[in-house]
Amino acid sequence: MAMAGEETIAGRLAEIRERIARAEAASGRPAGSVSLVAVSKNFPPEAVAEAAAAGQALFGENRVQEAAGKIPALPPELSWHLIGHLQSNKARKALPLFGMIESVDSLDLARHLDRVAGDLGLAPRILLQVNVADDGAKFGFSVSTVRESMPELLGLRHLRVTGLMTIPAFTDDPAEARPAFARLRETRDALASECGATLPELSMGMSHDFEIAVEEGATLVRVGTAIFGGRGQAVPQK
Ligand SMILES: *Cc1c(COP(=O)(O)O)cnc(C)c1O
Repeated sequence: MAMAGEETIAGRLAEIRERIARAEAASGRPAGSVSLVAVSKNFPPEAVAEAAAAGQALFGENRVQEAAGKIPALPPELSWHLIGHLQSNKARKALPLFGMIESVDSLDLARHLDRVAGDLGLAPRILLQVNVADDGAKFGFSVSTVRESMPELLGLRHLRVTGLMTIPAFTDDPAEARPAFARLRETRDALASECGATLPELSMGMSHDFEIAVEEGATLVRVGTAIFGGRGQAVPQK
């Protein structure tokens, strides 16, 4: 039987933080190298408030519409990352809500965001979503297109490109995600040396595989189910 602490959001958060700390230590990374993005999609503001009361300040949402109904209902000191596909026509609504857009998945979207950010006087941090397996997933740069696009992306005046994000194909065995995580890190290292950019952030790892992602260099892990519970039929947006 689960201990009482594991049946509450606060208890599950404490457990996830502990597991992140253990994975950092096991892979020789300094404590605090990895930030936890609590993915609150499909959960109401009350659940976010409960996590916030337990010390969690960083949250992820995958749909602009849902986030627009939730974020203004919560304390302004919380930070939010967009982790789902962004349609260009929602950019103007999204930018004021999110401190980071983790899911910039095409050069066209980046150009559009840059224009809108300029109009709004914002300078958002962005991650480039890379489909490292090139497995036909709907969204994301391929490794070769991100390389080709990098000089232009780094030249966009209003966007701060701070790293890469990936969503590997789901597998029952989390260990199968390891090569994809390693590939994202290698891609980042190659881009950083080719383009002279720092690209410190690697967003990778979800509820079932975040420890492996930490071992492979994640600086952001996006954990939903393991904190908030199941979402019924909901599946991660690709
Ligand atoms: C939903 C989602 C997550 C969290 O997934 P869990 O398996 O619930 O931890 C992480 N990343 C993205 C992009 C998602 O859409």
